[in-house]
Amino acid sequence: MIQKSPVAILGAGTMGHGIAQLTAQRGYPTRLFDITREAAATGFSKIEAALTRLLDKGKLSPEDRQQTLARISPTDNLTQAVSGAGVLIEAAPEKMDLKIDLLSRALRDAPEDALIASNTSSLSITELGQRTGQAHRVLGLHFFNPPSVMELLEVVRGVSTSPDTLDRALAFARDLNKTPIVVRDFPGFATSRLGVVLGAEAIRMVEQGVASVADIDRAMELGYRHPMGPLKLTDLVGLDVRLAILEHLHRELGEAFRPPALLRQLVRAGHLGKKTGVGFYRWTEQGPEPVEG
Ligand code: NAD
Repeated sequence: MIQKSPVAILGAGTMGHGIAQLTAQRGYPTRLFDITREAAATGFSKIEAALTRLLDKGKLSPEDRQQTLARISPTDNLTQAVSGAGVLIEAAPEKMDLKIDLLSRALRDAPEDALIASNTSSLSITELGQRTGQAHRVLGLHFFNPPSVMELLEVVRGVSTSPDTLDRALAFARDLNKTPIVVRDFPGFATSRLGVVLGAEAIRMVEQGVASVADIDRAMELGYRHPMGPLKLTDLVGLDVRLAILEHLHRELGEAFRPPALLRQLVRAGHLGKKTGVGFYRWTEQGPEPVEG
């Protein structure tokens, strides 16, 4: 196999660890960075557990599991994470200033020709490029949860992203076995903009007592053939992540995106969905149980 250049994933949370699993499974040496050693190690443990589940289902051999894990280096050292990397993928919280600060620090030690990608769900790629001073090689690589399973990769082209950067990103997407779509940089791109509207409206329906959490989800699963209802999906994405996207789109695009009061209240309570064990559902060993009332 040709030696692939390393990928640095910046942020080891829900998406970061999933993207690291994907790149390692596709043969890329993968550095998994987070701000603390514990957070990076937690991301790595989640990958170990996910690969064990694949092994138990007979979808992965013990050798492939071992080799995949050996390609991943969890670290809290940003310089080590980005040195010699061919691609940087930022997967930190959905806050513009935090992403700019992280990427600006990463760029001091990253190779001058590395692709600089953000997994942002909604923020401006053009602004990220402009404020990091590397607009020609910055673009969005928007993965879906879980990244190793979901087929789509939304590739977001900023105003100043170069054609060469776009071509390299599309080749990378195909090498990851994803189907890319190219979208113009506009708040919420093609996916989040539609996804959060459905999620927010479902939450307003819970507030208004239109139907139970389980039945609102069942309505879309059985009536519209969505693989997962909008409330369960909100739990999977993370209520804090969805709130951040809605707040941004509300500012940028207007009233249709006003975050529901119930969403704010649940985030304040720390009920962030699957990652904290409770949101609209309680996530147990047996699966999700709706929290009603
Ligand atoms: P998350 O909260 O699960 O993880 C964020 C991680 O970033 C945490 O591990 C945190 O410790 C780390 N972090 C915090 N500050 C950091 C810093 N300064 N430098 C590096 N790491 C830092 O969030 P997530 O759901 O993985 O979302 C990450 C990004 O991906 C966001 O931009 C989000 O909008 C986007 N996204 C999320 C989903 C989803 O389904 N959750 C899907 C697509 C895109």
